[in-house]
Amino acid sequence: MTASYETREHDVLIIGAGGAGLRASLEALAQGASVGVVCKSLLGKAHTVMAEGGIAAAMANVDTADNWKTHFRDTMRGGKFLNNWRMAQLHAQESPDRVRELEQWGALFDRTETGDILQRAFGGHTFKRLCHVGDRTGLEMIRTLQDRGVQQGIDVYMECTVTRLLTDNGRVAGAFAYWRETGRLIVFKAKSIVIATGGIGKAWRVTSNSWEYTGDGMALAYEAGAELMDMEFVQFHPTGMVWPPGVRGILVTEAVRGEGGYLTNREGTRFMLEVDPKKKELSSRDVVARAIYKEVQAGRGTEHGGAYLDVRHLGADKIKKKLPSMYEQFLRLADVDITKEAMEIAPTIHYAMGGLRVDAETGATTVPGLYAAGEAAAGLHGANRLGGNSLSDLLVFGRRAGEASAAYLREIELGTIDERQIADEQQLLLLPLVGGGKENPYLLQQELQQAMQDGAGLAREEKSLKACLDRVLELRQRSARIHVPGTRKYNPGWHTARDLRFMLTIAEAIVRAAIERRESRGAHWRLDYLEKDPALGRLNFIAYNDGGRVKLKTRPVPEMPPELARLFADSASPPPASQPPAPKPPTPQPVRT
Ligand SMILES: Cc1cc2nc3c(=O)[nH]c(=O)nc-3n(C[C@H](O)[C@H](O)[C@H](O)COP(=O)(O)OP(=O)(O)OC[C@H]3O[C@@H](n4cnc5c(N)ncnc54)[C@H](O)[C@@H]3O)c2cc1C
Repeated sequence: MTASYETREHDVLIIGAGGAGLRASLEALAQGASVGVVCKSLLGKAHTVMAEGGIAAAMANVDTADNWKTHFRDTMRGGKFLNNWRMAQLHAQESPDRVRELEQWGALFDRTETGDILQRAFGGHTFKRLCHVGDRTGLEMIRTLQDRGVQQGIDVYMECTVTRLLTDNGRVAGAFAYWRETGRLIVFKAKSIVIATGGIGKAWRVTSNSWEYTGDGMALAYEAGAELMDMEFVQFHPTGMVWPPGVRGILVTEAVRGEGGYLTNREGTRFMLEVDPKKKELSSRDVVARAIYKEVQAGRGTEHGGAYLDVRHLGADKIKKKLPSMYEQFLRLADVDITKEAMEIAPTIHYAMGGLRVDAETGATTVPGLYAAGEAAAGLHGANRLGGNSLSDLLVFGRRAGEASAAYLREIELGTIDERQIADEQQLLLLPLVGGGKENPYLLQQELQQAMQDGAGLAREEKSLKACLDRVLELRQRSARIHVPGTRKYNPGWHTARDLRFMLTIAEAIVRAAIERRESRGAHWRLDYLEKDPALGRLNFIAYNDGGRVKLKTRPVPEMPPELARLFADSASPPPASQPPAPKPPTPQPVRT
């Protein structure tokens, strides 16, 4: 079964038009490359647009003592030292310039009284560090990058989904995609590709993430031979809406606590005073999420199983000025006026710290010509991301990946695409429309979301994770028998069928890694292994494709050079001491499938 397809050619193909993809495309263009940007949704609608609280950068506009070293320290501590230290260093050093650049391109940030970019407090950051535009920072960032991209001449392919990377002798040569509206097929030829497709939050039932977050880019690259890293680390944001049921999971930005919001339990106790007397509500997300979970387990939760988040003491004027989206969100969706009533919140899945393993300087994956940046890439955040560090990640590493992908062109010719790869993907993609299966893609997606919620949620243990893995593997088998009525013309069931395959691959990698990490660290909370294991603290888990099976191996966390390690000398939480010989890997190695 083959269908016709159109062909387009670019030097660099960027998959994803969020902050990372747009920043990468601007840099590749600046290097003289012809750049194509493909995105599933409309330009300007990427997930980045939803970002609220701000961009972390040590500009020292409000707290003058801030500097890159403190930002670096905070990021490493937040990530429980599983981070790639070099990425954390580059990120801390380069974020201020990336923010200034955004401002030069037209981004209008909130201001201090002296006219500098205003910065607010956020969890885990020592100083007020988040540059923001009220609670609509992502919108301003996307608007600015997109305007500049269009002006500079990027070619954008909107509402177009990439379903397979095409390779030539192991290096990337292009990508196969379809137009969501018409179902027509398209092949992109490219010398290099940047994956900037974001995360996988739609694999859980309660999520702050948009419909686009089905792990596509991670799975595309993994299937082409790239390695995934730290997949077990998935962040639960402490504050998602809980009521009414239709809005459960929608984010309540950390800016609410950054501006001075309190968390209380049903009895009115401000429990974070006891959990973290120093940072209180601005403790890191893993700590706050667990504290809320424990309050609920102890019977002190709210009516709908969460905690209260209260900003009434800030006064109506400040609330409406600094948190306008939150004010409107609760009024419209929950009929709650947050200037008069407390918000009801509970943890919601939010961010993937894991993703593609990349080179710190360039974003190169292990597949020649393939780069990754943004939430689709791993390394910067380690076991837990600090709020605000994603938007700066997109700018710093989007730029670096764009630059490196363009530089790569100078070394190579366009690859040759084997028609068999195209025919194989066509067959897989069109199967739900023509095959004789009976499975419904929406029901399978719901089953996956429930399985991940139950088994790979905030609190995990061996039994729940193994049960979850069994369900994921069963769903993988059933997904081969999906049937979707209708044609290729705008058919959301057919889109879901393909997305589901990506989600199942990545879900399997997450659960397998979560089983093997027998310790609690950062966002990964194991009820059966409550402590950190120092040996595991020196290892990243890598998932790779072994002939269609997800296998795991370990890699030592890159060791920090002494001049950076010294930054933690007086710290209560120093980095793991240098310690040859290397610790034993976890069992079993590799994991059986
Ligand atoms: C509600 C909310 C608020 C947040 N607030 C903040 C904040 O204040 N500060 C902060 O630092 N972080 C915040 N985050 C996190 C941050 O927004 C994201 O991590 C970040 O925007 C991800 O950007 P990205 O460029 O990696 O991906 P995205 O912006 O998600 O872009 C992904 C792109 O890939 C495209 N794509 C995906 N799959 C395919 C495919 N198969 N084919 C073609 N295109 C594809 C999509 O269409 C999209 O264009 C927030 C997240 C949420 C959900």
